[in-house]
Amino acid sequence: MAILFMDKNADNIDRWLRELRANLAGHEIRQWPEEVGDRSEIEVAIVGLPERGELERYPNLKAILSTWAGVDRLMADGMVPRNVPLGRLVDGSLRADMTLFVLHWVLHFHREIHLYRELQAEARWQPLPYRETAERGVGIMGLGALGADAAEKLVGLGFAVAGWDAVAKDVAGVTSFVGANRLHDFLERTEILVSLLPLTPETEGILNKETLAALPRGACLVSCARGAHIVDEHLIAALDDGRIGAAALDAFRQEPLPADHPFWGHPRIFLTPHVAAKTNPRTAAQEIAEDVRRVLAGQPPRYPVDMKRGY
Ligand code: NAP
Repeated sequence: MAILFMDKNADNIDRWLRELRANLAGHEIRQWPEEVGDRSEIEVAIVGLPERGELERYPNLKAILSTWAGVDRLMADGMVPRNVPLGRLVDGSLRADMTLFVLHWVLHFHREIHLYRELQAEARWQPLPYRETAERGVGIMGLGALGADAAEKLVGLGFAVAGWDAVAKDVAGVTSFVGANRLHDFLERTEILVSLLPLTPETEGILNKETLAALPRGACLVSCARGAHIVDEHLIAALDDGRIGAAALDAFRQEPLPADHPFWGHPRIFLTPHVAAKTNPRTAAQEIAEDVRRVLAGQPPRYPVDMKRGY
């Protein structure tokens, strides 16, 4: 019996195989496609981006484990069989990196560095009105594995933090808003909005002209989950008329972002190429190995994806 590693996109397959083999000594790890061999011998598939339809061909698969936290690509038709448990990646290194990224932009926007940058360009010496940290409303959409940690750290720094989720979350010091009918109330009190939702049919386009207009004038956006949460042209319009003060964007509908996309040259957009929190094979392989051992012992993966909800 064996374990398969399959990722059409990974530029570090050798590293992954080395880390997985080090953490799963005694297990045979086969690389797709070269070493697949007899497909009936594969019990667990570890996947980044699989070949469409391929995972339907493994009759004894007990689980599929994702090397990514976000499984939206795996939810597309034909990517993973719906009757095999799918586990997503929850990893302390990923969480710490995302929290640092969020803290960076929240501090940047809270201290209005984006506005001082514009004043500098005009050689204007103009202190802006002082804002207490405790009065600054930071709102995190999605207090999940990543969002809850960022929220805790922001509470620790003294911000007024709220979260918005599908199910109530109990994060110390964080005001919880739940469900579609509380979204407007959540947005109304949020001056710095952080999006850490998964991409699902419900969250696609959730940052649109209505939701952006519900934020206080001049609010800033930190979008570090998936680009398809944003309706691009609505964000551009909101930035152009000052309803949104600035946006830090890390993920995009199309990646790499096309060279002619208006986000590139927008003076109020800070853009990074999907690097907020990249999977670190060293730490991720330890987490994945733990799940492999559980699955081979007949238990489900620790962070199972709900196939109906898509995350
Ligand atoms: P997670 O643990 O699944 O958390 C998702 C959170 O979103 C949960 O609190 C969930 O609430 C909430 N949620 C989902 N659908 C919702 C809806 N329709 N309405 C309200 N709340 C909803 O995911 P995670 O590990 O924190 O990761 C979040 C996302 O970050 C990933 O899906 C991925 O897209 C992105 N990501 C980006 C990078 C990067 O480098 N840019 C790196 C890693 C991850 P409930 O629990 O109440 O359902």
